[in-house]
Amino acid sequence: MTEAEQAQQETPMEDESEVETFAFQAEIAQLMSLIINTFYSNKEIFLRELISNSSDALDKIRYESLTDPGKLDSGKDLSIRIIPNKEDNTLTIMDTGIGMTKADLVNNLGTIARSGTKAFMEALQAGADISMIGQFGVGFYSAYLVADKVEVVTKHNDDEQYRWESSAGGSFTVCMDAGEPIGRGTKIILHLKEDQAEYIEEKRIKEVVKKHSQFIGYPINLEVTKERNKEVSDDEDDEEDAEEAAKKEEGEGDQEEKPKIEDIDEEEEESKAKDKKKKTIKEKYKEDEELNKTKPIWTRNPDDISQEEYGEFYKSLTNDWEDHLAVKHFSVEGQLEFRALLFVPRRAPFDLFENKKKKNNIKLYVRRVFIMDNCEELIPEYLNFMKGVVDSEDLPLNISREMLQQSKILKVIRKNLVKKCLELFADLHEDKDNYKKFYESFSKNLKLGIHEDGQNRKKLSDLLMYHSSAAGEDMTTLKDYVSRMKDNQKDIYYITGESKASVEHSAFVERVTKRGFEVLYMVEPIDEYAVQQLKEYDGKKLISVTKEGLELPEEEEEKKRREELKAKFEPLCKVMKDILDKKVEKVVVSNRLVSSPCCIVTSQYGWSANMERIMKAQALRDNSSLGYMAAKKHLEVNPEHPIIDSLREKADADKNDKSVKDLCMLLYETSLMASGFTLEDPQVHAGRIYRMIRLGLGKLRIIQDD
Ligand code: ADP
Repeated sequence: MTEAEQAQQETPMEDESEVETFAFQAEIAQLMSLIINTFYSNKEIFLRELISNSSDALDKIRYESLTDPGKLDSGKDLSIRIIPNKEDNTLTIMDTGIGMTKADLVNNLGTIARSGTKAFMEALQAGADISMIGQFGVGFYSAYLVADKVEVVTKHNDDEQYRWESSAGGSFTVCMDAGEPIGRGTKIILHLKEDQAEYIEEKRIKEVVKKHSQFIGYPINLEVTKERNKEVSDDEDDEEDAEEAAKKEEGEGDQEEKPKIEDIDEEEEESKAKDKKKKTIKEKYKEDEELNKTKPIWTRNPDDISQEEYGEFYKSLTNDWEDHLAVKHFSVEGQLEFRALLFVPRRAPFDLFENKKKKNNIKLYVRRVFIMDNCEELIPEYLNFMKGVVDSEDLPLNISREMLQQSKILKVIRKNLVKKCLELFADLHEDKDNYKKFYESFSKNLKLGIHEDGQNRKKLSDLLMYHSSAAGEDMTTLKDYVSRMKDNQKDIYYITGESKASVEHSAFVERVTKRGFEVLYMVEPIDEYAVQQLKEYDGKKLISVTKEGLELPEEEEEKKRREELKAKFEPLCKVMKDILDKKVEKVVVSNRLVSSPCCIVTSQYGWSANMERIMKAQALRDNSSLGYMAAKKHLEVNPEHPIIDSLREKADADKNDKSVKDLCMLLYETSLMASGFTLEDPQVHAGRIYRMIRLGLGKLRIIQDD
């Protein structure tokens, strides 16, 4: 007989078929044991997480009720209640939110892991702090920082009342709940660990709520126990005593409706003496006290709000553990009215670009009523890292998602938000250190913006920074690049590639820098896309040094010399093109090479080597498209290089010379690699190299034999 069966037999009163036991998904179980066993002193954050979950659940029901008011039970206000219980050593957090169906309970609290579960554990391993849990979407489990057993009683409009229960240890149970009906919402009962009794203390709870949850948009009520004086006549007193005693015998002490008299304190003897009939007793009673009475911060005057307050609000809004990096608080008036508060976080979230379902972090309110927090129309995708709130005076309260998509008002709000975000970034730009932080986290977003937001491309381009051949360890803006341009320089030169290290020594860069021009290093995959849209800055074309047609400004004499060389090497180019055939579009004499014998450039409108690498890495399901999409390659030869010159001599003597063919292929393949392409068939290339080495060694032996 299993333990469970035994347990069922021992409690025949319960309908055993109703209690189901589930195993926690493996990663969740791991996370829970980590939470329970890690030594960690800042346990108070559990309350923030549970309150934040309640607030989310309230948001959800409020949103549903906008289109279907019947979903809100009129008798229930939307609020959160905290109930400490000294006798049972429990702390209960209750909300009148959306609640969970049985399926929700099973899925959300234990059987389905989210990407955040693993990510959080990895972050912890890397030195992250447990208080960061909320960011990873597994905040609920922080309950086990203070509790050794947790019960969740919940009621969703579409289902019965259920109870979830777990003392960790790998499993939880779910059953129908026959206890006191809660109507709608969720009640989380924490059975506190012995050493965590402080969370039953009113003072401590108030402190924690004030610190972490003061900006929650629903009332948070704490059930407090108070004392008051009550005058009772001696008779009455006797009666009450008698009543109490009777109740106790019947075993139905009713604490809720009538204040329980826990302590009867006889007042001084003299009062007794004065009035034999009356005496004053102290009675304890329970009362709700609202802990977060502050009005919504965005409705207040920015002049009266301290940076600390903004920080607290930001943290409660986002579950972030750090303050924001920058904030913009503004209102728009006139034909359309709204207030907004926008924050730039200090870091990108762990899943910034990973999430398929687009999430949005701007909460939409209509006249102080929360509407939704994933309104895609509010802000473009590239700004999806921005957090904040928008409170509109003009939108209707019962607006649906479909209506929002059409809404002209929303379009105007969106335009304004983008404008303000860009202003905020420009302000940040003034502050070098902070901007650096910002740029490290969100440069990809700005570049995505360059790609997507034609209207603001100019403003966004002012925010871009790149490493360059002249900027050393620092990054440069395009503006600074332009200020350093040579008098005869018309264009802005750039190279795209895998890393700074790989591009800064490339042959392409070499020629340009030798001539005293600066080259920007664009080394993020997204640069390749962004630069195609950007095209120019401040009237100057952005020119890739790896593409054909790169013309560097040059003196008359230089030009003449180049023409002569070109004529001299033209026949070699023909021979090489015949040998390489379809591998290259053409073979030309280069004016960009200094120390390499040749390089591969790509046509102006095709892919660059870097783009080809990116596209191949994206595991294109259909490899055939690579064929015609692939970079159109031109081989450029350096007429001033001894290898090319010898080759020319050989080819002039006999263009069918076998070694000319071999050398030509070898040069082509080697320059492919040096130019950032990958070889289709590295084995063949290796074979050629070995032959050359043998040849070289042979020569060496001949020399030695001499
Ligand atoms: P997160 O809240 O970040 O999604 P949690 O681990 O805190 O992650 O919670 C998991 C899920 O459980 C929530 O997404 C929600 O669906 C559900 N949940 C938690 N608390 C409540 C609550 N008070 N009311 C309704 N659903 C809740």
